[in-house]
Amino acid sequence: MLHTSHLFAADQTHCSFADLPSGFYTRLAPRPLTQPQLLHANPAAAALLGLPESVLRTAEFLDLCAGNAQLPGITPLATVYSGHQFGVWAGQLGDGRAHLLGDVQGPLGVQEIQLKGSGRTPYSRMGDGWAVLRSSVREYLASEAMAGLGIPTTRALALVGSQDRVARETLETAAVVTRLAPSFVRFGHFQHWARSAAQQEILLEYVVSHWFPDCFEGTASQPDWPATACRLLKEISQRTARLMAQWQLVGFCHGVMNTDNMSILGLTLDYGPYGFMDAFQANHICNHTDTMGRYAWNTQPAVAQWNLTRLAESLLCLGCAATDLEAALAGFESTFLQAYHAGLAQKFGLPDWRPEDAVLGDDWWALLHAQQADFTLAFRYLSRVDTRLDDWLALFPQPDAARAWLARYQARLADSSQPAAQRSDGMDQANPLYVLRNHLAQQAIQAAQQGDTSEIDRLMDLLQHPYTERPGLASYARPPSADAPALVVSCSS
Ligand code: AMP
Ligand code: MG
Repeated sequence: MLHTSHLFAADQTHCSFADLPSGFYTRLAPRPLTQPQLLHANPAAAALLGLPESVLRTAEFLDLCAGNAQLPGITPLATVYSGHQFGVWAGQLGDGRAHLLGDVQGPLGVQEIQLKGSGRTPYSRMGDGWAVLRSSVREYLASEAMAGLGIPTTRALALVGSQDRVARETLETAAVVTRLAPSFVRFGHFQHWARSAAQQEILLEYVVSHWFPDCFEGTASQPDWPATACRLLKEISQRTARLMAQWQLVGFCHGVMNTDNMSILGLTLDYGPYGFMDAFQANHICNHTDTMGRYAWNTQPAVAQWNLTRLAESLLCLGCAATDLEAALAGFESTFLQAYHAGLAQKFGLPDWRPEDAVLGDDWWALLHAQQADFTLAFRYLSRVDTRLDDWLALFPQPDAARAWLARYQARLADSSQPAAQRSDGMDQANPLYVLRNHLAQQAIQAAQQGDTSEIDRLMDLLQHPYTERPGLASYARPPSADAPALVVSCSS
């Protein structure tokens, strides 16, 4: 295997996960793609590694992102984790098609580099280790769309396609996404060691020393691991609560909120059958495979809480008292509501959120739900109802009900002294005009399958700045036309 000796300085690379005992992972090389082709490289993510844009066009960069080369002296590895899938304990899972290449000291901190779709591992179970171009484009675009919205997420560095054939419902081609995160540790990593106190303590120490030093309790000679675990749980709970508020406020549905897809850093992780809603339905299910609607939009915060409780259970083996773990989780709801209300106030252009605003907020969702109004545009156009009322009203098949809500909203605005122009501008910074609607992702996928990556270029450019209106790109803000065939998105990836 090649070594990418020129991309990074010798003292810039390491693999902290490999400092854990060998039971936590398996070292193995990725399976290189055949005739790899760089379909997109992302300068914004490259900057996190300190890589200039010129490097992204080199053969060395392609080798790294195609699974052909490794960081100097670092053998890639796949990690083991377990988890609950659709509410059922699934036992051991793990990186079934992902390879951690190592970590790089970047200008803003350490970033791990991970390939997804890079071949079978001991954790592949029945899977083939591949990822298809379709799902890779979806992950690639969504990561950067979320980053553009200011929502914590793993980042996407590069998308590499190939001529390798992969069987899904149809024959597709294989691709690899190179993604970045300070850590890819999941709730499932802790769940995996729920019955092994010694290993759990090692994992806890690793996670706390690298990413949560403030959670450490005790002294260097006498660490208090149960107390440290409770503080860590509280911090993860609060990050997760804030993440859920952000998802809800942009109409994002993850689709597979299994515990193994939950990041301990509170990042959006593992983009599969996700969806940004078009027509608002509170119980919208984005994943065709989710027949029971376990991961519908309006269940996401509660599911996150359920997942956190499973994480808490895995810490019992450290000697944590159940009451202390419960106490660590107790703040989830208030943290969620605080972030959600603050975010909703910004989206509505309210200087503050008052308890009585809850009725206005509830009635807003009821209005959108009843009329299946477009999630993104209903918020976005609200900032301009003074001058462009018709645009906003046109989103509602029964405009009288919308007018009635608007009158109450405007009465509430009249209560605040903020100048209207300032309020509208502020609202436009809180309500994106462009989100990664499924049909837009689909257009980019279909073009890429024909060898045309220009749609990926355009969407990356647009979605990294989703609040800024672009001349000539009005169609990218619109929902799919009513006669367009419904797109089915499933776990197939
Ligand atoms: P996901 O539903 O994508 O989060 O995947 C759940 C588990 O299945 C994880 O352990 C994945 O690594 C594994 N997995 C998913 N697809 C594949 C595949 N094509 N080959 C091997 N493992 C896979
Ligand atoms: Mg996953």
